Amino acid sequence: MLKIDMHTHILPKKMPNWSAKFGYGDFIYLYHHKPGYAQMMKGNQFFREINENCWNPELRIKEYSVFYTQVQVVCTIPVMFSYWAEPKDTLSLAQFLNDHIASLVEKYPKNYIGLATLPMQDPELAIEELERCKKIGFPGIQIGSNINGKNLSEPMFFEIFEACERLNMAIMVHPWDMMGQRDMAKYWLPWLVGMPAETSRAACSLIFSGTLERLPNLRVNFSHAGGSFLTTLGRIEHGFNCRPDLVALDNPVNPRNYLGKFWVDSITHDPLLLDYVIKVQGSKRVTLGTDYPFPLGDLEIGTYIEQMNLDPEIVEDIFCNSTLEWLQLKKEDYL
Ligand SMILES: [Zn+2]
Repeated sequence: MLKIDMHTHILPKKMPNWSAKFGYGDFIYLYHHKPGYAQMMKGNQFFREINENCWNPELRIKEYSVFYTQVQVVCTIPVMFSYWAEPKDTLSLAQFLNDHIASLVEKYPKNYIGLATLPMQDPELAIEELERCKKIGFPGIQIGSNINGKNLSEPMFFEIFEACERLNMAIMVHPWDMMGQRDMAKYWLPWLVGMPAETSRAACSLIFSGTLERLPNLRVNFSHAGGSFLTTLGRIEHGFNCRPDLVALDNPVNPRNYLGKFWVDSITHDPLLLDYVIKVQGSKRVTLGTDYPFPLGDLEIGTYIEQMNLDPEIVEDIFCNSTLEWLQLKKEDYL
């Protein structure tokens, strides 16, 4: 069975020193301090140690083959979004990362599919890069759950979503710049509490603003099984019903109506929760993802899904059909 892991992150092994190049800011810098490892530095601050599977395509293929996976969808690490920078500099950075992923896909067309990154803080430049990425073969993009604290419901982003629909470019929404992170740095709470909330923030913003209603052909995938959106949908729907004066300002449609109209990945670490996600979304709207190569990911690709006694058709939807439909790609290109 074809197995596509649609949520993985990658970086080029070498990147310019962006802070030196642009003359300001704490851009990510890679310091290769020992063979097979690099430190990601944010200015002078240590951000995270990564190892070779973050940049070596051959090693990645070897590692994911162990779990009978044939293809990875790759996108950058959200800390690289750099929406805070001067738009023209975020554009240069995005072009560098996108060209790296495009060259990887060109070299390994059966093993990698790419998602691009955009300077979202500047819709004009974002659309320019979106159009370029479409031309060089990307089926979609990855964006943050908020852009410099602005919600995806802000009118300035609508034209980017409209361009995605027009160009047939899929979107993966990834949590980043987590709300409240300065108040809860201890216990890794930005990742454990902030990230699921961020993804729900993005889903609610796209629903309540009417973006998904106005762009019915926009194909959006919310990371980590939709974050807390699906598990708190009862509350969200009840809020919509009991206080429409606060919630139904821009879209009169019940949020539950959007179930199965967007995609979510399978990253739950929990068969019980995944079972619920499949029930509410339908298996054609749940895509196999891992967050490889990071330790918080579901790194035994699909193993517990295989042990859940699901119908083989449901497993096949999750392992490949849903991703192929989300990205509008053909199965035979990967067999
Ligand atoms: Zn991720």
